[in-house]
Amino acid sequence: MRQQESAHILVAGAGLAGLATAVWLAEAGHRVTLVEKRGRLGGRTISFEVPGIEGRVDNGQHLFAGCYDALLRYVDTIGTRDRLHWDAPPFAIRTGPDRLLTMRAPAWLPHTLRRAIGLSWLAWPPIPLRDRPAAVRSWARIAFAARRPDPALDDLTVDRWFRRIGVPESLRALVLDQFVIGLLNEKPDRVSAYMFVQTLRFISGRALSGNPRAGDAVWPRVSLHELFVAPAERFLLERGAEVVVGTGVVDIEITDDGLTGVRLSDGRVIEVDAAVLTLPPWSLTTLLDRGRLGQYDHFTPARKIEPAPISSVYVWLDRPLRMRRLAENLRDTTIEWVFDTTGMHGVETEAGHCYSLAVSASWDVVHLPNAEFTAAALESLAKHYPEVGQAQVLRTHVIHQPQATFSAQPGFDALRLPQRTPIDGLFLAGDWTRTGLPSTMEAAAESAVLAVDAVREFLGARVGAAEG
Ligand SMILES: Cc1cc2nc3c(=O)[nH]c(=O)nc-3n(C[C@H](O)[C@H](O)[C@H](O)COP(=O)(O)OP(=O)(O)OC[C@H]3O[C@@H](n4cnc5c(N)ncnc54)[C@H](O)[C@@H]3O)c2cc1C
Repeated sequence: MRQQESAHILVAGAGLAGLATAVWLAEAGHRVTLVEKRGRLGGRTISFEVPGIEGRVDNGQHLFAGCYDALLRYVDTIGTRDRLHWDAPPFAIRTGPDRLLTMRAPAWLPHTLRRAIGLSWLAWPPIPLRDRPAAVRSWARIAFAARRPDPALDDLTVDRWFRRIGVPESLRALVLDQFVIGLLNEKPDRVSAYMFVQTLRFISGRALSGNPRAGDAVWPRVSLHELFVAPAERFLLERGAEVVVGTGVVDIEITDDGLTGVRLSDGRVIEVDAAVLTLPPWSLTTLLDRGRLGQYDHFTPARKIEPAPISSVYVWLDRPLRMRRLAENLRDTTIEWVFDTTGMHGVETEAGHCYSLAVSASWDVVHLPNAEFTAAALESLAKHYPEVGQAQVLRTHVIHQPQATFSAQPGFDALRLPQRTPIDGLFLAGDWTRTGLPSTMEAAAESAVLAVDAVREFLGARVGAAEG
């Protein structure tokens, strides 16, 4: 039996969950092998080269909030906190040219007061007067539900729940439906009301536990590769970890004592003390179909988890738009978000001023050919930023991601698997595992925290049993 500190642990999948698990296990002194099926690390947080563009382009704009404690801890471990840009909460609704609903509060006020005043328009939004009392009641019902989320809400979509509690259509159209889509990457008529209130509880819980910046937006100032991936790989290699790319896990080896090894697609079997699978559910299903894991009913719920898409088009213009915030949420257009990528990075390049135009839960456009999607995106831009008429579009780049996140439909909560499995020595992580969080980078990092704790407990118990 190996000592707990020098146990050999294989981590399968090098998205954020896998990278964070590997980094924290290596930090704890374990011998780590990280295995990634694709030819590069990063999973759903990757950046790639686009011909003619300096630096790397992300697979889509990623935003996180000041309450993402696990992700911030990961960033601290790999030493990249200085590559983040902290901003006010991402509430900036553009209803037309020069019409932006956003935070307004004097800069000299203390931070918490400034945020509270800045967001106060949400309590009295610009909707018809007759709808305002119902809007206030709706906010109160939502806040009350978020205090103690009722699991029975997992039987309802957000849409049905909003109708049941009488949320006025005008409030939904102006604020709430897009808020739900932004948080959960799914349409209100498809997503679980329980997931929605659980997410509100998570954000407010972290805010009330003393983090005044819990709701603030945090933007990457560099590509996702430079923020999350390359520094993690360096961290691992410096600690003697082995990083294998272009080779997937295809099966596991099990005896009566639990997991003994992991079989890779190149035919190798690696003997390990423990393994953490951080595959998305749609990849885990392949392992269930082809390997020994399929014999365990425990993993069957993962088969029912479906993905949801995000579509983006990067646009390089010869001049900046008149945006007041780094991210603005558009109404009544194909495009939902405009992100000022150049503004976030703070560097103008010769390629022009870069914007990422995105549609979350992009069921309506994910099938569109690039040219058609780009045309619709530029039309959206022109509707809200007329100055684009004078600008020259230097380049565009479309990215449709059909499997961007999981789709938290009603009943989803019961499909989430815990990090510990019935097989001794085998653990799970990934944004879809049981964290209570929506499909986010924080869920991926939080799942890594839980998986690392479970591995530590398992190894500790083994050492205890061997000594006792
Ligand atoms: C366009 C886009 C925008 C997004 N925007 C945001 C945002 O603004 N804020 C936010 O918080 N989140 C956002 N997300 C979601 C976030 O990126 C994900 O929730 C998170 O990155 C998931 O990480 P993960 O490690 O759980 O999974 P993944 O990143 O999918 O990692 C799993 C890895 O396992 C590998 N793998 C699969 N099968 C095998 C195998 N058999 N053997 C070995 N490896 C295997 C895969 O190749 C992959 O690299 C966005 C996602 C996308 C795509």
